[in-house]
Amino acid sequence: MNRLTGKICIVTGSGRGIGAAIARAFANEGAKVVVTDRHAESAKAVASELGCDFLRLDVSSEADWDALKAGFPHCDVLVNNAGVTGFEDAMRPHDPENATLEDWRAVHAVNLDGTFLGCRYAIGAMRDKGAGSIVNISSRSGLVGIPAAAAYASSKAAVRNHTKSVALYCAEQGLNIRCNSIHPAAVLTPMWEPMLGDGPDREARMAAFVADTPLRRFGDPAEVAALAVLLASDEAAYMTGAELNIDGGLLAGSAATPNA
Ligand code: ADP
Repeated sequence: MNRLTGKICIVTGSGRGIGAAIARAFANEGAKVVVTDRHAESAKAVASELGCDFLRLDVSSEADWDALKAGFPHCDVLVNNAGVTGFEDAMRPHDPENATLEDWRAVHAVNLDGTFLGCRYAIGAMRDKGAGSIVNISSRSGLVGIPAAAAYASSKAAVRNHTKSVALYCAEQGLNIRCNSIHPAAVLTPMWEPMLGDGPDREARMAAFVADTPLRRFGDPAEVAALAVLLASDEAAYMTGAELNIDGGLLAGSAATPNA
């Protein structure tokens, strides 16, 4: 496995979940991975497992991106993976009628501002070689409305669209910098814990998600990571501005299912 040999690959939010799976898959392909996360400890743990660099990076902080740029003026691959649902600290309402402006902005600050800042950094850091790959982790929620998580859905839809602007901008500039989005759904990660809870309804909630999914199971973070490897590698040389669903078939049918 050497599809990314020697490439400097930065993965945001890779202290756990999908990001950690992507960091592992990239390392397996020979990449020089840089694990970054808002939580230094989790980034450090993944980095020591992989024997690679790590950096504390809050993707919503312009100053943190400047610090990353100072340490890594060049990169070949950036995965904008860091994301929040808004339910991490408390299950406050996130529907269009009751969400607070503060909660709305907090979700967009990470998911959307973080992706904008990441893409801006990456274009500059890939200009020297005139080539690279940016992979934005959006969501199935970026393609359909999610009443109970409106800010999350809005931010992920904006990530989908910004991906296309970046792809076209780079092509217009004569740069071989590709930018694509991945849209996972029902991929079991710690992000789900606050929504599943640990009460008696947990099993029923999980069963409901599975029942909605045509393949009748949750996806594994490693399955998303395999797609990120493809997009990061030269095998995807003719792909830019594309959106790839990885959702067990969920989006192939009705978009009306209520689950995020
Ligand atoms: P997913 O399903 O996307 O893997 P997780 O919640 O399991 O969801 O993982 C998201 C990761 O993103 C966590 O490691 C978390 O610490 C990280 N993260 C969240 N907000 C930020 C941020 N502002 N900057 C960097 N990393 C972040």
